[in-house]
Amino acid sequence: MNSAIHVFKFGGASVKDAKAVLNVVDIIQKHDQTNLIVVVSAMGKTTNKLEAIFNSFIKKDKETYFKYTKELKIFHVDIIQGLFKGDALNEINEVINTVFNDITSFYEKNENENRSYLYDQLIPYGEMLSTKIIQHCLKQSGVRSSWLDAQKCIKTDSHHQNANVDWKRTEKEINKCLNQIFTNKRVVVSQGFIGSNNNGDSTTLGREGSDYSAGIFAYASNAKEVIIWKDVPGMLNADPKYFEDTIKLEQISFKEAIELSYYGASVIHPKTIKPLQNKNIPLYVKSFVHPEKKGTIIQKRTENDDAIPSFIFKKNQVLFSIMPKDFSFLIEENLSDIFLKLSQIQVQINIMQNSALSFSFLMDDKSEIVSRIKEALENSYMVKYNTNLELVTIRHYDQQTIDFVTKDKEILLEQKTRSTARFVLGQKDVTTNTFKEV
Ligand code: ASP
Repeated sequence: MNSAIHVFKFGGASVKDAKAVLNVVDIIQKHDQTNLIVVVSAMGKTTNKLEAIFNSFIKKDKETYFKYTKELKIFHVDIIQGLFKGDALNEINEVINTVFNDITSFYEKNENENRSYLYDQLIPYGEMLSTKIIQHCLKQSGVRSSWLDAQKCIKTDSHHQNANVDWKRTEKEINKCLNQIFTNKRVVVSQGFIGSNNNGDSTTLGREGSDYSAGIFAYASNAKEVIIWKDVPGMLNADPKYFEDTIKLEQISFKEAIELSYYGASVIHPKTIKPLQNKNIPLYVKSFVHPEKKGTIIQKRTENDDAIPSFIFKKNQVLFSIMPKDFSFLIEENLSDIFLKLSQIQVQINIMQNSALSFSFLMDDKSEIVSRIKEALENSYMVKYNTNLELVTIRHYDQQTIDFVTKDKEILLEQKTRSTARFVLGQKDVTTNTFKEV
């Protein structure tokens, strides 16, 4: 391959209806189409809908399964009717019918097989549909393009729903496929989020994993740059849902981007940065609404990282406090026992702290989790919890930013390093902040 490779990633919001798809085609048309890889997610909220279909499959609730499947089909048919006419419409309609026939026959599968495996056999249909539609639309607009099955080239282990990439094989397979397509001077259209294992079974890389796929394609092909197209102007210093006056970060380092996504900034999937950092491939986050604007650049240089404080909010948090029943000190042994039990029920800890007699940890308040944690720990420990809290992280804080986020709030736990301050906050109302016995 002689000229530099570029990777674009378009998420669900950028292809949520016919008008949005045309905008994507327009962005691609205006770009140099030599050696361009376009990675696309499922359209709009398709993956959520497929998860709802999957849940009704598990419950063997046939009526809901087919009701949701029909709704999802109507959603896609509406989109193609807004994009194609005549023979082109018939052609893509047939493609969509084939996918929905597969979704229909999926219902007959044995629901008692491994759940994550089954999930990975159903959910990728969202990306299959979106990429088929986009590629047909590009073709109709005169853009030479080829549809590439990501399952052929992104090779993973069998850790279903959160598969690990086999980098060596993936690199080899991606380059094999790209060589062919690029020799014919075509744009590559492929799916985000999905891959396959050694048996050829579908695997997925974790929800919102399409950014990561873009990183994988870029790494394997030694791309010059990646652009993630979003509905925001770039990476902002806070979620506009919680902040009125957000500031766009012009330039941050790979390291800072990893820190921000680790603490919960939701603009980029956390796994995306590593492959890019490893090969020093810059990542741009740009607006698909204003493609002419600059966006944010994420690259090696760190000198701008502390220019603007960033705020990351996690709402609906539950804080647990665990004490050994016999009043023994919390030493490594108890801690390893606690961690083992928590990892067995797949608890993801957002922040933790321990004292002589108690271990506290904070997590997203998901249904049934309180009772599952109680079951796992109640024999040896006293377990208390506290709901309705929020976790606020400030990167590059000062006293003013701390005062701003903690104003009128009760601080239940705080941790500071030189660059990061984190607070678990409750309402300033003593009764709701009291620990409840499980
Ligand atoms: N479609 C997948 C999801 O919604 C992957 C992605 O959009 O990144 O999680």
